[in-house]
Amino acid sequence: MSERVIGGQQRTEDQEFEWSLRPGRLAEFIGQEAIKANLEILVRAAHGRNEPIEHILIAGPPGLGKTTLANIMANEMGVDIRTTSGPAIEHQGALASILTNLEDRDIFFIDEIHRLARPVEESLYPAMEDFKFDYVGGKGAGAQTIRLQLPRFTVIGATTRQGMLSAPLRDRFGAVYALYFYDADDLFQIVQRSARLLKVVIDDPGARVIATRARGTPRIANRLLRRVRDYAQVRAQGRIDEQVARDALAMLDVDELGLDAIDRRILRTIAEKYEGGPVGLETVAVSVSEDPETVEDVYEPFLMQLGFLARTPRGRVATKLAYDHLGLVKVTEQPHLF
Ligand code: ADP
Repeated sequence: MSERVIGGQQRTEDQEFEWSLRPGRLAEFIGQEAIKANLEILVRAAHGRNEPIEHILIAGPPGLGKTTLANIMANEMGVDIRTTSGPAIEHQGALASILTNLEDRDIFFIDEIHRLARPVEESLYPAMEDFKFDYVGGKGAGAQTIRLQLPRFTVIGATTRQGMLSAPLRDRFGAVYALYFYDADDLFQIVQRSARLLKVVIDDPGARVIATRARGTPRIANRLLRRVRDYAQVRAQGRIDEQVARDALAMLDVDELGLDAIDRRILRTIAEKYEGGPVGLETVAVSVSEDPETVEDVYEPFLMQLGFLARTPRGRVATKLAYDHLGLVKVTEQPHLF
């Protein structure tokens, strides 16, 4: 499934490209207005007091700008950022070596923070609270606890699953923001901005087509733009207009709403094989050969946003809107679900 063009997760092909497109300042970051306004206040207040910014947790599906915002915060503060991810910090010692190497007010960005190992997470608590780190050196009877004083720093944590964060960890963040899917107007601006940076010739209707099929996700908008650019280069002298965008996306099997074959298979499985559901997450995941976590984090949020899928205590349910979109007719009526 790694070939999926509209998955929100970052892929190797995105990396270099994303760096060149990543907005560097809050003013260049499109959309998420309320969060931006809050972040601006945090930066100004911290600057004014010459303090680090308070710890921030950013939640939301992949590709919505969590990493970008963390980097922007470092730029706005004029400090360095150290980036890692929850599973990459294997033990306390690894955490200690990162923390002791930070400079005053630096940002420590932890992606997938819900996946920190428990002992690592626990030693992060005093570090976040008092900039202290209790390091246990040696083993057995000779073990010694050394208390390290750390520089003042800010943790910015990113998570696709806020619900999986332990309460003590969440409580240590002064600010928690949930990013939401972008609307078509924001994505339109993002596509135009990226096209400018990449020197791609695209007209407004062409940019609209890409924006409306990007599943509310800037990363996907940028990826689709790049794919459409390739198509335009070969078939349309490098110029993207509405028809070129439509043709290119049809070749990629991305439909009018941004759904691809996998999304449709998820909905079809529930609708056709299980009469609309409820169906357990595991069953849905097997039908598209994905692991349940990916289905939950990457596929379902957008299907729910469209109102095509509902999560109920007994499992996933395909809604009437999903039937309509797929052109299916529900045979056995289950009125309470509609
Ligand atoms: P996440 O960390 O949430 O997975 P990223 O911060 O890596 O997402 O964003 C993915 C890409 O999308 C970035 O490289 C950036 O180019 C683009 N992007 C994300 N949010 C915005 C935005 N609000 N405005 C412009 N580009 C954005």
